[in-house]
Amino acid sequence: MATGKIGVTTENIFPVIKKFLYSDHEIFLRELVSNAIDATQKIKTLAAFGDFKGELGQLDVRVRVDKEAGTLTVSDRGIGMDQDDIEKYINQIAFSGAEEFLAKYKDTANSIIGHFGLGFYSAFMVSKKVVIRSLSYKDGAKAVEWSCDGSPEYEMKETEKAGRGTDIILYIDEDSKEFLEQQRIDALLKKYCRFLPVPVISGKEQEWKDGKYQDSDKDKVINATEPLWTKKPSELTDDDYLRFYRELMPGQEDPMFWIHLNVDYPFTLTGILYFPKIKSNIDLQRNRIQLYCNQVYVTDQVEGVVPEFMMLMQGVIDSPDIPLNVSRSYLQADSQVKKISSYISKKVAEKLEKMFTSDRKAYEQKWDDISIFIVYGMLSDEKFYEASKKFFLFKDTQGEYFTLEEYRKLIESAQTDKNGDVIYLYATDKTSQFSYIEAAREKGYDVLLMDGQLDPHLVGLLESKIEKTRFVRVDSDIPERLIEKEDSQKPGLTPFQTEVASTLFRSRIPEIEGAQFIVSFQSTSPDADPATVTQNEYMRRMKEMAAMQPGAGFYGSLPDSYSLIVNTLQPAVKDVIEKASENLKATVEPAFTEIESINKEVAELRGQVDGKKEMPEDEKKRIEGDIEAKEKRASDLREINEKAIAEYAGGQPVVLQIIDLALLRANLLKGEDLKRFISRSISMLK
Ligand code: ADP
Repeated sequence: MATGKIGVTTENIFPVIKKFLYSDHEIFLRELVSNAIDATQKIKTLAAFGDFKGELGQLDVRVRVDKEAGTLTVSDRGIGMDQDDIEKYINQIAFSGAEEFLAKYKDTANSIIGHFGLGFYSAFMVSKKVVIRSLSYKDGAKAVEWSCDGSPEYEMKETEKAGRGTDIILYIDEDSKEFLEQQRIDALLKKYCRFLPVPVISGKEQEWKDGKYQDSDKDKVINATEPLWTKKPSELTDDDYLRFYRELMPGQEDPMFWIHLNVDYPFTLTGILYFPKIKSNIDLQRNRIQLYCNQVYVTDQVEGVVPEFMMLMQGVIDSPDIPLNVSRSYLQADSQVKKISSYISKKVAEKLEKMFTSDRKAYEQKWDDISIFIVYGMLSDEKFYEASKKFFLFKDTQGEYFTLEEYRKLIESAQTDKNGDVIYLYATDKTSQFSYIEAAREKGYDVLLMDGQLDPHLVGLLESKIEKTRFVRVDSDIPERLIEKEDSQKPGLTPFQTEVASTLFRSRIPEIEGAQFIVSFQSTSPDADPATVTQNEYMRRMKEMAAMQPGAGFYGSLPDSYSLIVNTLQPAVKDVIEKASENLKATVEPAFTEIESINKEVAELRGQVDGKKEMPEDEKKRIEGDIEAKEKRASDLREINEKAIAEYAGGQPVVLQIIDLALLRANLLKGEDLKRFISRSISMLK
């Protein structure tokens, strides 16, 4: 019997393993089963090359729980190990500077395992003693038993063992008794070993007997040894893909389509990615792509491996080139992993382009469901944005689809403004913005429908990417000014008329919570609407962007700012302004004239104070007092005037009607205000 010390540089590696790996201790089973699978694959390879001529026998891996003995055993019929092998592979852990390494990575101790060939030693996370019993495939090999109780000392001796292969026997620790439960083991095997390439057997199939479920004598095979992604796409039907999806993601609606990844240079990667049906909401539940390494489950945390925007997809990726068991930050920094990520992105773009070119109609039908992926991709991945030019679609309010290029051609002639910018008009809600959409269409414009969750971001992106391009929401101005062709018409009112008209309309806009109005005048045309409510594009966008951020911020807290743009050429408007100016002349004009002259005087006095640097303090005080008094007088006068005008306006149903119609069209007339409008309209019919 030989005893010795395991060749690691630190005396106390096992306590360290136990301690740091505690949270993830279940992975020991994956490590041991993986080793067993590897040994099995190796014997197959040796046999295939004629280097092993014996009987292969039944090649499966067995996981056995013996509650009474307190052991968990993983057995294989692989290549086995002789004393030299154990000395080399188990005793001499190829690992230098262990202490240093552990100190550095103590938070991500998981990364030590596997990466540094510590897989087997993870068994000590759950065991007080581990025994290896092995018989090598080599001619004349002697069976060997190795055991170790968790200290760096081991024992190794010759033994008797019937068949080729290895048994790893774990004497489960007191605090790890859960791993003596068949159910727990089954669950772990389902998680990590579901698609391993060699049958993994654990426990027995259940059968209904004597009024209860009991073990039958049939072995329970845990895994599907040839999962779909390992097969050739040409041999698979849509049904195969759907069936695999249902097995992988039970309880989900069928996916829209899928991409079968298959590459062997410059790295090896296979997998199937499904596009689930996502409606308007970004489904934030991620972790739906499982990462495998040679069919061994690694993780469902694939950040870094898969481009950010594809985290919405579901499926599997299998690559031996992704370092197994490494921490997330390590994954993201790994250049191989980066290559994989951009490869996947490219593959997805190619697939989308192919779908678009091969059957545009079918692609358009899917567009509403897949656009969220694509827009997300365009926003987050420069290369994908470039690729997307070939398959990104605009949808207009008429339900027609256009590529970026097609759309530019469509609108270029009618929708270029006086500065040479092409204006993309859009609506975010077909129903509530209907009349604005119609008004723009009547002017010969096309209106896009941008109602996706990410569209506010997309608008910003496209404006920055496509030169001489602006996006303008269809209700952000009156139709005549949405696309400015020439300098707009002055309203054609005298200063006094403007004063009266402003207050006339402003004073009668109902209080609407969270909304704020300014009134302006425009001489549009006699046939155009008397007044229109518009919402400032810039402010609205700022608010929308703020709303998407957590803790909406400054812009989020602002009210919505609207304009009531009154068309001074419209006969009813013209009439009501003229009449009001006429009727209010006597009451309002004297004060108005006085305010004008006060304003002039104040401006002059201000000039005096500001102009002179060295003014005696008391003179400065006197002038400032004077200004204050004058301003007070002007403000009092204004208040009186406004009151008089507002009172007058109250008696003018036409003013109220003009305002309410504009509000109604903007979906802002609600509750009490709406009821009042209806009553007024009815009484006007009498
Ligand atoms: P890794 O698997 O990452 O190389 P391990 O510590 O898990 O590291 O295993 C070390 C080595 O021990 C393996 O590379 C293999 O050569 C050998 N080994 C482990 N388990 C078995 C087994 N069941 N059968 C044959 N060889 C094994």
